[in-house]
Amino acid sequence: MNNRRKFFKSLGLLSATALVGGLHPKNTLAKTKIKWKMVTSWPKNFPGLGAGAETLARYINKLSGGSLEVKVFGANELVPPLGVFDFVSSGGAEMGHSGAYYWKGKTEAAQFFSSVPFGMTSQEMNSWLYYGDGLKLWEEVYENFNLIPRPAGNTGVQMGGWFNKEINTTNDLKGLKMRIPGLGGEVLARAGGTPFTLAGSEIFTSLQTGVIDATEWVGPYNDRAFGLHKAAKYYYYPGWHEPGPSLECIINKDAYNSLSDQHKSIIDIACKAANVDMISDYMAKNYQALEFFKREKVQIKQFPAEVLSKLNKISDEILLELSQKNNLSKKVYDSYVNFLSRVRPWTLISEDAYLSSFK
Ligand code: CA
Repeated sequence: MNNRRKFFKSLGLLSATALVGGLHPKNTLAKTKIKWKMVTSWPKNFPGLGAGAETLARYINKLSGGSLEVKVFGANELVPPLGVFDFVSSGGAEMGHSGAYYWKGKTEAAQFFSSVPFGMTSQEMNSWLYYGDGLKLWEEVYENFNLIPRPAGNTGVQMGGWFNKEINTTNDLKGLKMRIPGLGGEVLARAGGTPFTLAGSEIFTSLQTGVIDATEWVGPYNDRAFGLHKAAKYYYYPGWHEPGPSLECIINKDAYNSLSDQHKSIIDIACKAANVDMISDYMAKNYQALEFFKREKVQIKQFPAEVLSKLNKISDEILLELSQKNNLSKKVYDSYVNFLSRVRPWTLISEDAYLSSFK
């Protein structure tokens, strides 16, 4: 062995020793063991959403070779479902899994990062978030709360909901008592209905006992699990109020910044993988549950165009008002509306035109 080769050989050994010895701790994933908590807004192992949180944690654990271990907590195990944002913000847990529209009381602009009535489809939403200004703006909106957001799931377009009377004209919405939270609820109220915000666990009984006349929940997969077809006659589509709801992973900023670049990348990529996984899971389970509803002779109906058109008009007014609440809302609204107006013509002559060709 000549001197030059000896030199490189010893250098190689030295580097290996240095790595094992922890001289470069940021690159030795196998030697570190970081344990994180993830609080969620979903019951433990809840189909779709809760499963999505578990999938995300599993991806992080696997990709990091166990060096970053995330333990998932269901709603109420550490904090109530709507306590996730504050808990992660203050560092009680390093991560959370939830939906951005729950935080409108903290910052109105958050609503654009889950779903708004008559807004983007899941694919349009992902395009805005990853390849438009969406994620950058989302980071800006959460900046003051010491949080870093990442898209981490999507249900795809939801169903319009379960009704105990037919909706033939906008007059049928007058006086309608419906469980429909958020902006969708505001739209219903302006159309003459009475929106209710009920937790998932309260929906079935409220519908069955007539406390409410109608409810939206998610789609066939989750709705079947609640047995909603036993409490209402008609199942309406489409879910105009939630056309492509994005779910979020929120990370405490100090905790995120304490990680190595590799661990940060693992979280980012795991969130993207979990995003794809959830929408695929929903697609596969929704069609099966829809087949079940058809076998059960559930009456599946489409909202009349006149009703959707009226709700769309009201929705535009409400979003405009939302944009006028503060500068940040205006900034996000402008980006969202501009992206949607430019991406939609493409959606219409691609996916939409393709599907419509076979009707
Ligand atoms: Ca819903």
